[in-house]
Amino acid sequence: MANPSLLILPGDGIGPEVMAEVRKVITWIGENRGTTFDVSEDLVGGAAYDAHGTALHDDTMAKAQEVDAVLLGAVGGPKYDNLDFSLKPERGLLRLRKEMDLYSNLRPAQCFDALADFSSLKKDIVAGLDIMIVRELTSGSYFGEPRGIFEEGNERVGINTHRYTESEIERAARSAFELALRRNKKVCSMEKANVMEAGILWREVVTEVAKDYPDVDLSHMYADNGAMQLVRAPKQFDVILTDNLFGDILSDCAAMLTGSLGMLPSASLGAPMDNGRPKALYEPVHGSAPDIAGQGKANPCACILSLAMALRYSFDMGEEASLVERAVEKVLADGVRTADLMQSEGETPVSTSEMGDAVVAALTALA
Ligand code: NAD
Repeated sequence: MANPSLLILPGDGIGPEVMAEVRKVITWIGENRGTTFDVSEDLVGGAAYDAHGTALHDDTMAKAQEVDAVLLGAVGGPKYDNLDFSLKPERGLLRLRKEMDLYSNLRPAQCFDALADFSSLKKDIVAGLDIMIVRELTSGSYFGEPRGIFEEGNERVGINTHRYTESEIERAARSAFELALRRNKKVCSMEKANVMEAGILWREVVTEVAKDYPDVDLSHMYADNGAMQLVRAPKQFDVILTDNLFGDILSDCAAMLTGSLGMLPSASLGAPMDNGRPKALYEPVHGSAPDIAGQGKANPCACILSLAMALRYSFDMGEEASLVERAVEKVLADGVRTADLMQSEGETPVSTSEMGDAVVAALTALA
């Protein structure tokens, strides 16, 4: 059987720095777990613009369509701020998401015990937190037509359309239920069915899809109450399913429960390919962090945890995914911290590569 294939797109700023640490983990898995990945690497974002005059070359796009999964670092930086909108580094990422039709965005909010003090909430509310937000990514308010700013009488009116088809809701819902089956078998669907027709349809379709997943417990919540519950008692949730607009807000809110941007992975999944696995792009939530780029200060954990998501959702390597997550947890529990995780003056941070080495050492210790 062919080796699983992975396209690595380090991108800009701290992207290449954190990706170098991910490579160490991939090497460790090859040497210790018997799975060798066919890894190819290419350019995206500003790096691709510098080389090709476009944020994503057609050849790279074609490669992304062929591989089992894509892992991206980050794109963007001040050097590219004045480029025309169509040439900006972010266009590379948007093109990947659009052409791979990645409709389901997974944002875990997991609080490592060692970092519970970083949350703005009380420690006992967030310690041990492990929830997953599934956000519909390709429709709803950010895409619906008509949209624009129009003249109406003697003033202007701004219009966006909150539009969802049944099939768009259904495929996002299925991805949430499938995920729940691998987790604690609970889905809470969030919308505003009390005031929005699109919310009523959302609730109806999700309820219908749930019939195919009798082992999963489905509940519904209005999205405003959901926001409140996320900060009141986040541990009541397992998988939260929501649309593009509410998901944008709720996932950022949930992410901050855990404290640090340097720790947050994400996945964007599309339709199943011939091999049954979804098209998939994995990336840390953070950007290219130009303020610390090139200084060895970046925390590689978000990118390493994005690889763990790829192992779980694209390669059926749940055991290895858990191992990587436990290795990160162990390193943090042992007090190894990059600068973004420092709690008090006088502590000495480790560098990006020292953090990567510590994760690899923890993998060896735990395996
Ligand atoms: P950012 O996430 O790059 O940085 C925000 C802050 O968090 C900075 O102080 C940064 O130093 C810190 N930070 C981020 N990641 C870190 C890590 N791994 N370790 C330690 N500290 C970390 O967001 P920004 O400053 O708003 O944007 C910078 C550039 O990144 C912009 O060009 C923006 O467009 C781009 N961006 C890209 C993505 C992406 O590629 N998906 C996402 C967000 C922003």
